[in-house]
Amino acid sequence: MESKKFQRTREDFTCEKCGVAVRGNGYTNHCPQCLWSKHVDIFPGDRREMCRGLMEPIATEKKGKEYIVLHRCIECGFERKNKIADGDNFDTAKEITAKGYNV
Ligand SMILES: [Zn+2]
Ligand SMILES: [Zn+2]
Repeated sequence: MESKKFQRTREDFTCEKCGVAVRGNGYTNHCPQCLWSKHVDIFPGDRREMCRGLMEPIATEKKGKEYIVLHRCIECGFERKNKIADGDNFDTAKEITAKGYNV
């Protein structure tokens, strides 16, 4: 049986958009500086997606106390919402909000 549960994968990676070295905490799959992500998951955390396209943060949304960022893959157009975590660059999030559309 396929498990759709979130799988925690702790990994460090280098952002392919801005080049910053990201220390993985097992939850965040996007760059804390530019907030770009990568299309690597079929289900969150599984890293089984073969697309591997960069995912652009195209919009943000405030849900209660949480901020959500909408990522869209520049290769295949797949969209996924992600939580903005503590330590992410909120100035970048505000810029996305300013130029983006509401989710
Ligand atoms: Zn980056
Ligand atoms: Zn993709």
